[in-house]
Amino acid sequence: MKKILLEDDEIPKEWYNILPDLPEPLPPPLHPATNEPVKPEDLEPIFPKELIKQEMSDERFIRIPDEVREIYAIWRPTPLIRAERLEKALKTPARIYFKYEGVSPPGSHKPNTAVAQAYYNMKEGVERLTTETGAGQWGSALCFATKLFDLKCTVFMVRISYEQKPYRRVMMETWGGEVVPSPSDRTEFGRKILKEHPDTPGSLGIAISEAIESAASDDKTKYSLGSVLNHVLLHQTVIGLETKKQLEKVDEKADILIGCVGGGSNFAGLCFPFVKDSEKDGSKIIAVEPTACPTLTKGDYRYDFGDTAGLTPLLKMYTLGHDFTPPPIHAGGLRYHGDAPALCMLVKHGIIEARAVDQVSTFNAGLLFAKTEGIIPAPETTHAIRVAIDEALKAKEANEERVIVFNFSGHGLLDLQAYDDFMNGKLKGT
Ligand SMILES: *Cc1c(COP(=O)(O)O)cnc(C)c1O
Repeated sequence: MKKILLEDDEIPKEWYNILPDLPEPLPPPLHPATNEPVKPEDLEPIFPKELIKQEMSDERFIRIPDEVREIYAIWRPTPLIRAERLEKALKTPARIYFKYEGVSPPGSHKPNTAVAQAYYNMKEGVERLTTETGAGQWGSALCFATKLFDLKCTVFMVRISYEQKPYRRVMMETWGGEVVPSPSDRTEFGRKILKEHPDTPGSLGIAISEAIESAASDDKTKYSLGSVLNHVLLHQTVIGLETKKQLEKVDEKADILIGCVGGGSNFAGLCFPFVKDSEKDGSKIIAVEPTACPTLTKGDYRYDFGDTAGLTPLLKMYTLGHDFTPPPIHAGGLRYHGDAPALCMLVKHGIIEARAVDQVSTFNAGLLFAKTEGIIPAPETTHAIRVAIDEALKAKEANEERVIVFNFSGHGLLDLQAYDDFMNGKLKGT
C-alpha cells in the first residue's frame, strides 16, 4: 500500500509529553533579570495559564480538547506515504515513508500548535494574539488558527520579508490577520529603533520584542510562540502518534526516523513518541540542521537567551550565541541560534543523533523528490529529505532492507524563488 490513511476518529485524543521520560529533569528556564528559575506567575502577562501549566507538566499524556480535534479534522489525520518512486530512482532496498504535514491549510505542521494555542487563549478570555514572523510560515498558521476561534491576530513581520515576500502577508490578511512591518511605531521599542535607524531592514529579534511588548501592555492581548517551548513540542506530537498507528497498520517498524530542526517542533512532533522504543530496539533518530546554522552539531550546551535582544528567559540548550547571525539561506525556518531544551538534552545524552547538511545538497534532494514523488518541498523540509536519501543509499551499499521515516514538514509552493535561484546556479554551498 502506498498511502496509509486513518479515519477521522483516529486523530489522537491525547498529546504525548516527553518531560517525565527525559533521562534527567529539564533544567528550568531562568529569569533574565534575576537568574532565578522562572515562576508560573512571571509568565502570566504573556501566556494563558493552561499553556504555562503544560509547559511545566509532568503528566505523560494530556487530553486534546474536542474543539481542537474538530479543527484538526480539517486536514488531519495526515497521510503517511511510501515514496516508492523515490526508492526506485535510488535503486535502494530501503522502504522510505514520509508523514505529509504539507496538507494543512497554511501548508506546514505549524497549525498543530497554533490551533491549540488559539483555543486556550480564547477559553481564558483573551481577545488578541501577537507574534513575530520572519518568512511568514508561523504568522500564517496563527492567523488561520485565531480566525477559527474568533480572536484577533497581530503579526510583527520583519520589514525586509514584508517587502520582499508579499504572498505570505496576503495569506495572513486573507485570514483576517493584521500584519505590521517591524520595526513599527506601535511599540516603544519599535519607535526607538526607527528613530535611531530609520532605514533598518528589521530582524526577528526586534519583531519578538515588539510582539512581547504589545502583549504585555494590554490585558486582553497575549503572545504566542511557534517553536522551542515544551508546550509547542507537546502539541506537535499528533504527528508521531498518528505515524505510529499508520506503521502498525502496514506491519512496519521504523529503523530510522528523521526530521529537520529549526527550533525543534516538527522534529519533536514526529520523533518524541518513538524515543522510548528507540532506546529499546536500537532504531536511530536523526535531527537535521543546515551547516550554515549548526546549533546541535557545533553549538555549546549552556544557558542562553531565547531571542536576539536578550529579553526572554534563559534556556539550557545548544546555542551558537544569541547574537549569532546565520547567513541568509533559503530555509528561513532553520535559522535559529538555539533549539528546544528537551531536544538538546536528548542529543546531549546521545539518544538523538544530529547532522548538518549543506544548502546545495538539500536542494538537489528536494528536486529529486519533486521529480519522483511530485510534491515540491519547503526548503526546510529538503534537509530531512537529504538525510533520508543518504540513509537509503547506505542501505543500498550494505544491501539491507531498512525502514526510513521522515517528516515532510511543509510544501514549498510559496518558496519558488528559492527553486528558481537554485536552478539558475545562484545558491551558494553554505
Ligand atoms: C517553521 C518550519 C520549520 C522549522 O521549525 P521547527 O520548529 O524546527 O519545526 C520546518 N519546516 C517548515 C515547513 C516550517 O514552516
